[in-house]
Amino acid sequence: MSKFSKLIQKQKENQAAKKYRFNLEAKTNANREGVLCACGSKKSYKLCCELIHKNIELAKTPLELMKSRYTAYVLGDIDFLMLSHHSSTRPISEKEEIFKWTQSVEWKGLEILEAKEIQTSEGFVTFKAFFIENCIPNLIHEKSRFLKENDHWTYIDGIHS
Ligand SMILES: [Zn+2]
Repeated sequence: MSKFSKLIQKQKENQAAKKYRFNLEAKTNANREGVLCACGSKKSYKLCCELIHKNIELAKTPLELMKSRYTAYVLGDIDFLMLSHHSSTRPISEKEEIFKWTQSVEWKGLEILEAKEIQTSEGFVTFKAFFIENCIPNLIHEKSRFLKENDHWTYIDGIHS
């Protein structure tokens, strides 16, 4: 390895460590009372998405589930991300990779564009989720589809814009 590529490698490691610290901080903050929930509700995490993370049946609409999934991305709650995913499309084999990705980016916020419940068992939420990956601002713009499974809402698939 040349001196230069060693330097680049070192820089990458430093960046990864920094991001990890940032996410740890977000996680610690989220567990503190009074700290606003990552989903943007202006409520504390304890009174917002944490309730759904502890009992998924409390997500009464596709929108509530979507928001709690965003917060789970921010906190790296991979078990909740799997649980809230419809079993027919649940990416179990990519669990570890998804977890690493959630923690490698810096989450910047969620913007809901539209939320519709078509039937009591199907709904759609269009949103933008903002994050910084490798120092570059990026976003996911998606119309997500939600279905009820085992009496609670789950994410099944989405169309990216
Ligand atoms: Zn929330």
